[in-house]
Amino acid sequence: MNAGQKLLQKKGVESARLESEMLMSHVLGCQRHQLYIMGNRPLDLKQTEAYEALLHRRLQGEPIQYIIGVREFMGLNFHVDKRVLIPRWETELLVEYVINRVKDYSGPLHILDLGTGSGAIAVSLASYLSQAWITAVDIKEDALQAAADNAKLNKVENRIEFLKGDFFTPLELSLYSEYFDVIVSNPPYIPTKEIEKLMTEVKDYEPITALDGGADGLDCYRRIAAGAWQYLKENGFIALEIGYDQSKPVQEIFLSKAYHVAEVRKDLSGIDRIAVFCKRQGV
Ligand code: GLN
Repeated sequence: MNAGQKLLQKKGVESARLESEMLMSHVLGCQRHQLYIMGNRPLDLKQTEAYEALLHRRLQGEPIQYIIGVREFMGLNFHVDKRVLIPRWETELLVEYVINRVKDYSGPLHILDLGTGSGAIAVSLASYLSQAWITAVDIKEDALQAAADNAKLNKVENRIEFLKGDFFTPLELSLYSEYFDVIVSNPPYIPTKEIEKLMTEVKDYEPITALDGGADGLDCYRRIAAGAWQYLKENGFIALEIGYDQSKPVQEIFLSKAYHVAEVRKDLSGIDRIAVFCKRQGV
Protein backbone atom coordinates (compact mmCIF):
# COMPACT_ATOMS: atom_id res chain seq x y z
CA MET A 1 0.00 0.00 0.00
CA ASN A 2 1.46 3.40 -0.84
CA ALA A 3 1.63 6.30 1.59
CA GLY A 4 -1.14 8.21 -0.17
CA GLN A 5 -3.51 5.30 0.04
CA LYS A 6 -2.78 4.95 3.76
CA LEU A 7 -3.51 8.60 4.43
CA LEU A 8 -6.74 8.47 2.48
CA GLN A 9 -7.81 5.36 4.31
CA LYS A 10 -7.07 6.98 7.65
CA LYS A 11 -9.21 9.90 6.61
CA GLY A 12 -12.09 7.50 5.99
CA VAL A 13 -12.05 7.60 2.20
CA GLU A 14 -13.86 4.45 1.13
CA SER A 15 -12.04 3.68 -2.10
CA ALA A 16 -8.61 4.80 -0.91
CA ARG A 17 -6.66 2.61 -3.31
CA LEU A 18 -8.73 3.58 -6.33
CA GLU A 19 -8.50 7.27 -5.47
CA SER A 20 -4.76 7.25 -4.83
CA GLU A 21 -4.33 5.56 -8.21
CA MET A 22 -6.59 8.12 -9.86
CA LEU A 23 -4.44 10.91 -8.46
CA MET A 24 -1.25 9.14 -9.48
CA SER A 25 -2.35 8.51 -13.04
CA HIS A 26 -3.48 12.13 -13.25
CA VAL A 27 0.00 13.30 -12.22
CA LEU A 28 1.72 10.92 -14.64
CA GLY A 29 -0.73 11.66 -17.45
CA CYS A 30 -1.53 8.00 -18.01
CA GLN A 31 -4.44 5.60 -17.64
CA ARG A 32 -4.88 3.94 -14.29
CA HIS A 33 -4.21 0.43 -15.62
CA GLN A 34 -0.87 1.62 -16.98
CA LEU A 35 0.31 2.17 -13.42
CA TYR A 36 0.47 -1.59 -13.01
CA ILE A 37 2.63 -2.00 -16.07
CA MET A 38 4.99 0.73 -14.85
CA GLY A 39 5.44 -1.02 -11.51
CA ASN A 40 6.87 0.92 -8.65
CA ARG A 41 8.98 3.33 -10.62
CA PRO A 42 9.91 6.19 -8.25
CA LEU A 43 8.48 9.61 -9.01
CA ASP A 44 10.81 12.52 -9.74
CA LEU A 45 10.71 15.54 -7.46
CA LYS A 46 8.22 17.49 -9.56
CA GLN A 47 5.86 14.53 -9.79
CA THR A 48 6.13 13.91 -6.06
CA GLU A 49 5.23 17.50 -5.32
CA ALA A 50 2.34 17.44 -7.74
CA TYR A 51 1.01 14.21 -6.25
CA GLU A 52 1.30 15.55 -2.72
CA ALA A 53 -0.53 18.74 -3.64
CA LEU A 54 -3.43 16.75 -5.11
CA LEU A 55 -3.46 14.37 -2.17
CA HIS A 56 -3.61 17.33 0.18
CA ARG A 57 -6.67 18.68 -1.60
CA ARG A 58 -8.35 15.28 -1.34
CA LEU A 59 -7.49 14.98 2.35
CA GLN A 60 -9.14 18.36 2.92
CA GLY A 61 -12.36 16.87 1.53
CA GLU A 62 -12.42 18.08 -2.06
CA PRO A 63 -14.16 15.47 -4.26
CA ILE A 64 -11.78 13.42 -6.39
CA GLN A 65 -13.71 14.31 -9.55
CA TYR A 66 -13.07 18.04 -9.10
CA ILE A 67 -9.39 17.39 -8.44
CA ILE A 68 -8.82 15.37 -11.58
CA GLY A 69 -11.45 17.41 -13.42
CA VAL A 70 -13.27 14.53 -15.06
CA ARG A 71 -16.28 12.37 -14.36
CA GLU A 72 -17.42 9.48 -16.50
CA PHE A 73 -21.17 9.39 -17.01
CA MET A 74 -23.07 7.13 -19.42
CA GLY A 75 -19.71 6.01 -20.78
CA LEU A 76 -18.85 9.59 -21.77
CA ASN A 77 -16.30 11.95 -20.26
CA PHE A 78 -17.45 15.16 -18.63
CA HIS A 79 -15.27 17.97 -17.36
CA VAL A 80 -16.39 18.90 -13.88
CA ASP A 81 -15.32 21.59 -11.49
CA LYS A 82 -16.88 23.57 -8.67
CA ARG A 83 -19.27 25.37 -11.02
CA VAL A 84 -21.35 22.20 -11.42
CA LEU A 85 -22.74 19.24 -9.52
CA ILE A 86 -20.79 16.02 -10.10
CA PRO A 87 -23.12 13.76 -12.08
CA ARG A 88 -24.36 10.82 -9.98
CA TRP A 89 -24.87 7.22 -11.02
CA GLU A 90 -28.59 7.39 -10.15
CA THR A 91 -28.98 9.98 -12.87
CA GLU A 92 -27.85 7.42 -15.44
CA LEU A 93 -31.12 5.60 -14.68
CA LEU A 94 -33.03 8.70 -15.69
CA VAL A 95 -31.08 9.08 -18.92
CA GLU A 96 -31.42 5.37 -19.73
CA TYR A 97 -35.15 5.53 -19.10
CA VAL A 98 -35.58 8.38 -21.57
CA ILE A 99 -33.37 6.72 -24.18
CA ASN A 100 -35.29 3.45 -23.99
CA ARG A 101 -38.63 5.14 -24.16
CA VAL A 102 -37.91 7.24 -27.24
CA LYS A 103 -35.21 5.40 -29.16
CA ASP A 104 -37.63 4.17 -31.83
CA TYR A 105 -39.10 7.61 -32.56
CA SER A 106 -37.97 8.46 -36.04
CA GLY A 107 -38.77 12.14 -36.35
CA PRO A 108 -36.95 14.99 -34.69
CA LEU A 109 -37.33 14.69 -30.97
CA HIS A 110 -37.37 17.85 -28.89
CA ILE A 111 -36.12 17.48 -25.34
CA LEU A 112 -35.94 20.09 -22.61
CA ASP A 113 -33.40 19.61 -19.79
CA LEU A 114 -34.15 21.87 -16.83
CA GLY A 115 -31.16 22.72 -14.64
CA THR A 116 -28.58 21.19 -16.92
CA GLY A 117 -25.54 21.81 -14.68
CA SER A 118 -22.58 19.97 -16.23
CA GLY A 119 -24.83 19.02 -19.13
CA ALA A 120 -24.67 15.36 -18.08
CA ILE A 121 -28.26 14.64 -19.07
CA ALA A 122 -28.46 16.87 -22.15
CA VAL A 123 -25.14 15.77 -23.61
CA SER A 124 -25.77 12.06 -22.99
CA LEU A 125 -29.21 12.22 -24.58
CA ALA A 126 -27.86 14.06 -27.61
CA SER A 127 -25.05 11.57 -27.86
CA TYR A 128 -27.22 8.44 -27.69
CA LEU A 129 -30.22 9.76 -29.62
CA SER A 130 -29.16 11.03 -33.04
CA GLN A 131 -32.67 12.36 -33.73
CA ALA A 132 -32.74 14.48 -30.54
CA TRP A 133 -32.59 18.26 -30.40
CA ILE A 134 -32.04 19.46 -26.89
CA THR A 135 -32.79 22.72 -25.14
CA ALA A 136 -30.74 22.92 -21.95
CA VAL A 137 -31.59 25.57 -19.38
CA ASP A 138 -29.66 26.66 -16.32
CA ILE A 139 -29.91 29.70 -14.10
CA LYS A 140 -26.16 30.00 -13.78
CA GLU A 141 -24.02 31.35 -16.57
CA ASP A 142 -20.93 29.50 -15.38
CA ALA A 143 -22.76 26.17 -15.33
CA LEU A 144 -24.00 26.78 -18.88
CA GLN A 145 -20.45 27.45 -19.95
CA ALA A 146 -19.37 24.13 -18.42
CA ALA A 147 -22.26 22.35 -20.13
CA ALA A 148 -21.43 23.93 -23.49
CA ASP A 149 -17.81 22.79 -23.13
CA ASN A 150 -19.01 19.27 -22.37
CA ALA A 151 -21.22 19.34 -25.45
CA LYS A 152 -18.17 20.23 -27.57
CA LEU A 153 -16.04 17.61 -25.86
CA ASN A 154 -18.61 15.01 -26.83
CA LYS A 155 -19.25 16.50 -30.30
CA VAL A 156 -22.95 17.16 -29.89
CA GLU A 157 -22.87 20.95 -29.63
CA ASN A 158 -24.78 21.40 -32.90
CA ARG A 159 -27.88 19.69 -31.43
CA ILE A 160 -28.03 21.44 -28.06
CA GLU A 161 -29.08 25.02 -27.46
CA PHE A 162 -28.22 26.54 -24.10
CA LEU A 163 -30.53 29.07 -22.51
CA LYS A 164 -29.86 31.02 -19.36
CA GLY A 165 -32.71 31.48 -16.94
CA ASP A 166 -34.87 30.11 -14.21
CA PHE A 167 -36.51 26.90 -15.51
CA PHE A 168 -39.21 27.93 -18.03
CA THR A 169 -38.59 31.67 -17.99
CA PRO A 170 -36.17 31.82 -20.95
CA LEU A 171 -38.56 29.83 -23.17
CA GLU A 172 -40.59 32.16 -25.34
CA LEU A 173 -44.06 30.72 -25.71
CA SER A 174 -44.34 31.81 -29.34
CA LEU A 175 -41.46 29.45 -30.13
CA TYR A 176 -41.89 26.66 -27.64
CA SER A 177 -45.62 26.22 -27.16
CA GLU A 178 -46.30 22.43 -26.96
CA TYR A 179 -42.88 21.96 -28.56
CA PHE A 180 -41.25 19.34 -26.35
CA ASP A 181 -41.70 15.59 -26.59
CA VAL A 182 -39.79 15.16 -23.36
CA ILE A 183 -39.07 17.36 -20.36
CA VAL A 184 -36.34 15.93 -18.19
CA SER A 185 -34.77 17.17 -15.00
CA ASN A 186 -32.63 16.21 -12.06
CA PRO A 187 -33.46 19.30 -10.04
CA PRO A 188 -32.04 20.29 -6.66
CA TYR A 189 -34.13 18.28 -4.20
CA ILE A 190 -32.44 18.33 -0.82
CA PRO A 191 -34.40 20.09 1.93
CA THR A 192 -32.48 23.21 3.02
CA LYS A 193 -32.01 22.01 6.58
CA GLU A 194 -30.56 18.68 5.46
CA ILE A 195 -27.69 20.28 3.57
CA GLU A 196 -25.73 20.96 6.74
CA LYS A 197 -25.78 17.23 7.47
CA LEU A 198 -24.31 16.15 4.16
CA MET A 199 -20.69 14.99 3.88
CA THR A 200 -17.97 17.63 3.54
CA GLU A 201 -17.34 16.60 -0.06
CA VAL A 202 -20.85 17.67 -0.98
CA LYS A 203 -21.76 20.54 1.31
CA ASP A 204 -18.45 22.38 1.21
CA TYR A 205 -17.60 21.88 -2.45
CA GLU A 206 -20.61 21.32 -4.67
CA PRO A 207 -22.71 24.32 -5.74
CA ILE A 208 -25.50 24.95 -3.26
CA THR A 209 -27.93 26.02 -5.98
CA ALA A 210 -27.60 22.52 -7.46
CA LEU A 211 -28.57 20.91 -4.16
CA ASP A 212 -31.03 23.09 -2.29
CA GLY A 213 -34.64 22.21 -3.07
CA GLY A 214 -36.19 24.63 -0.56
CA ALA A 215 -37.72 23.98 2.87
CA ASP A 216 -39.16 20.54 2.04
CA GLY A 217 -36.96 19.82 -0.98
CA LEU A 218 -39.93 19.89 -3.33
CA ASP A 219 -39.86 23.46 -4.64
CA CYS A 220 -38.56 22.56 -8.08
CA TYR A 221 -41.16 19.82 -8.58
CA ARG A 222 -43.90 22.31 -7.80
CA ARG A 223 -42.45 24.76 -10.28
CA ILE A 224 -42.04 22.14 -12.98
CA ALA A 225 -45.60 20.88 -12.44
CA ALA A 226 -46.93 24.43 -12.61
CA GLY A 227 -44.91 25.50 -15.65
CA ALA A 228 -44.53 22.48 -17.92
CA TRP A 229 -48.03 22.15 -19.33
CA GLN A 230 -47.88 24.74 -22.08
CA TYR A 231 -44.46 23.58 -23.32
CA LEU A 232 -45.15 19.85 -23.36
CA LYS A 233 -46.71 18.14 -26.40
CA GLU A 234 -50.04 16.49 -25.74
CA ASN A 235 -48.50 13.02 -25.84
CA GLY A 236 -45.16 14.04 -24.35
CA PHE A 237 -43.81 13.06 -20.96
CA ILE A 238 -41.90 14.51 -18.03
CA ALA A 239 -39.16 12.34 -16.49
CA LEU A 240 -37.68 13.43 -13.18
CA GLU A 241 -35.14 12.22 -10.70
CA ILE A 242 -36.47 12.35 -7.14
CA GLY A 243 -35.03 12.13 -3.63
CA TYR A 244 -35.24 8.93 -1.56
CA ASP A 245 -38.46 9.84 0.28
CA GLN A 246 -40.12 12.04 -2.33
CA SER A 247 -42.02 9.58 -4.47
CA LYS A 248 -45.42 10.12 -2.88
CA PRO A 249 -45.30 13.90 -2.46
CA VAL A 250 -43.96 14.43 -5.98
CA GLN A 251 -46.74 12.25 -7.41
CA GLU A 252 -49.30 14.23 -5.44
CA ILE A 253 -47.94 17.49 -6.80
CA PHE A 254 -48.30 16.30 -10.40
CA LEU A 255 -51.67 14.65 -9.84
CA SER A 256 -52.98 17.94 -8.51
CA LYS A 257 -51.94 19.63 -11.78
CA ALA A 258 -53.76 17.43 -14.31
CA TYR A 259 -51.00 14.95 -15.01
CA HIS A 260 -51.10 11.24 -14.48
CA VAL A 261 -48.30 9.07 -13.18
CA ALA A 262 -46.99 7.11 -16.14
CA GLU A 263 -44.30 5.23 -14.29
CA VAL A 264 -42.12 5.14 -11.20
CA ARG A 265 -38.77 3.37 -11.38
CA LYS A 266 -36.58 2.20 -8.53
CA ASP A 267 -32.83 2.50 -8.24
CA LEU A 268 -30.54 -0.42 -7.41
CA SER A 269 -31.23 0.02 -3.69
CA GLY A 270 -34.95 -0.40 -4.30
CA ILE A 271 -35.75 3.28 -3.76
CA ASP A 272 -38.16 5.11 -6.06
CA ARG A 273 -35.80 7.29 -8.07
CA ILE A 274 -37.43 8.18 -11.37
CA ALA A 275 -40.95 9.53 -11.69
CA VAL A 276 -42.63 9.95 -15.07
CA PHE A 277 -45.72 12.01 -15.76
CA CYS A 278 -47.98 12.56 -18.76
CA LYS A 279 -50.79 15.00 -19.39
CA ARG A 280 -54.21 13.73 -18.42
CA GLN A 281 -56.19 13.74 -21.62
CA GLY A 282 -59.31 15.81 -21.93
CA VAL A 283 -58.25 18.35 -19.33
N1 GLN B 1 -28.52 17.94 -14.61
C1 GLN B 1 -27.29 17.85 -13.87
C2 GLN B 1 -27.09 16.45 -13.37
O1 GLN B 1 -28.02 15.67 -13.32
C3 GLN B 1 -27.28 18.85 -12.74
C4 GLN B 1 -28.30 18.57 -11.70
C5 GLN B 1 -28.29 19.61 -10.60
O2 GLN B 1 -27.43 20.49 -10.59
N2 GLN B 1 -29.21 19.48 -9.67
O3 GLN B 1 -26.00 16.09 -12.98
